Amino acid sequence: MKRVIVVGAGQAGASCVARLRSKGFDGQITLIGEEPVPPYQRPPLSKAYLLGEMARDRLYLRPESFYAEQNITLKLGTAVTAIDAMAQTLTLADEVLNYDDLVLTTGSTPRRLPAAIGGDLDGVMVVRGLNDVDAMAPRFTKGARVLIVGGGYIGLEAAAVAAKLGLNVTLVEMADRILQRVAAPETSAFFRHLHSAHGVDLREGVGLDHLTGDGGRVTGAVLGDGSTVAVDFVLVGVGIMPNTNLADAAGLRLENGIATDAQGRTSDPHIWAAGDCASFPWKGQQLRLESVGNAIDQAECVADNILGHARAYDAKPWFWSDQYDVKLQIAGLNTGYDHIVTRSGDTGVVSHWYYAGDQLLAIDAMNDPRAYMVGKRLIEMGKSPAPEAVRNTDTDLKELLKA
Ligand code: FAD
Repeated sequence: MKRVIVVGAGQAGASCVARLRSKGFDGQITLIGEEPVPPYQRPPLSKAYLLGEMARDRLYLRPESFYAEQNITLKLGTAVTAIDAMAQTLTLADEVLNYDDLVLTTGSTPRRLPAAIGGDLDGVMVVRGLNDVDAMAPRFTKGARVLIVGGGYIGLEAAAVAAKLGLNVTLVEMADRILQRVAAPETSAFFRHLHSAHGVDLREGVGLDHLTGDGGRVTGAVLGDGSTVAVDFVLVGVGIMPNTNLADAAGLRLENGIATDAQGRTSDPHIWAAGDCASFPWKGQQLRLESVGNAIDQAECVADNILGHARAYDAKPWFWSDQYDVKLQIAGLNTGYDHIVTRSGDTGVVSHWYYAGDQLLAIDAMNDPRAYMVGKRLIEMGKSPAPEAVRNTDTDLKELLKA
């Protein structure tokens, strides 16, 4: 009987095993995860769950009973420590398992601040796992002072939760503007205004120099411009690194994560990879995406290919972020855009459309699900509406799909 083992019981791992069964695979499936809980969704960790508005059970992607019902062996709290690609075996703490196909869905690890600048002080935290958020939640009390290092989506979402709960929030972003790596200046400006309006002290173009502490506990920060901030705790949101150690030690090719071919196969024909840890060919480079949509789609593609479908992964990037009462929805990839077309509706409803020449690449829609849906469809269909039509709020967006 064919044996598939999936290492990493997160979004991609759970999607892969569910897809294998739903497509009729009747061999052995084992899903192994280091965390002690069944696969869960991470996005609410910096949103509703941190805010205290979502129960823990609702984070789980499926009830734990699902895995037993589907005859999927779930090994939780178990780290895989080595792969022997020649022998097709995996090493766990106290056993060795054989596989026919192995899928690596090991996710990513947040970057931390170096100890030399106070990154190891008590009260300096990252937002990645359920354990991180459960540990930090008691600190989110009215009047507490939090410093958020990094103005990417996770830092901004945590800032929004903290501000909503009445904390004093300072956010530092070393780059000239928040969201610089991922969004246009127009989108940065929208969120700058939003956070400032909620009382967040947003400092752009200034980095953290070092943290100061008392008795091993963080108490303050010295910023790059010499200014100081008194803090009760610090959240670090300065990006992630793909978890490639296992793959590296097994001799798999790495390039911007675990390098896969169009079908999701690594440099070893029996080993596949998907999700945050994996890169795939895209316009002449190895692209790696850090999103739920990618984790699901890529993992399902790998499952199909294990079953022999020889399907190329056709990435259709989408993402979202919730901050205060704003829902940002993103479709497409804006890499290489040269101008933005803005469509402004009623108060707070706005979308930015990214073009390269006359080609539509991506859209950021703020509280505008209709613009998002139409933009996403247009991008998927390879259609690029005339900028005037997008800008004109009299245009019925759905008509653009028919053009
Ligand atoms: P993960 O879900 O991280 O799962 C990987 C798992 O592998 C982990 O449980 C890890 O412990 C395990 N593992 C690693 N190594 C081993 C090993 N050796 N042995 C056993 N197990 C191992 N995306 C969006 O699209 N929208 C959002 O709004 C959004 N918000 C986010 C908010 C937060 C706070 C975070 C942290 C992420 C957010 N993301 C969001 C990103 C999204 O959650 C990730 O892209 C997605 O979870 C990636 O899925 P994955 O399966 O690749 O990795």
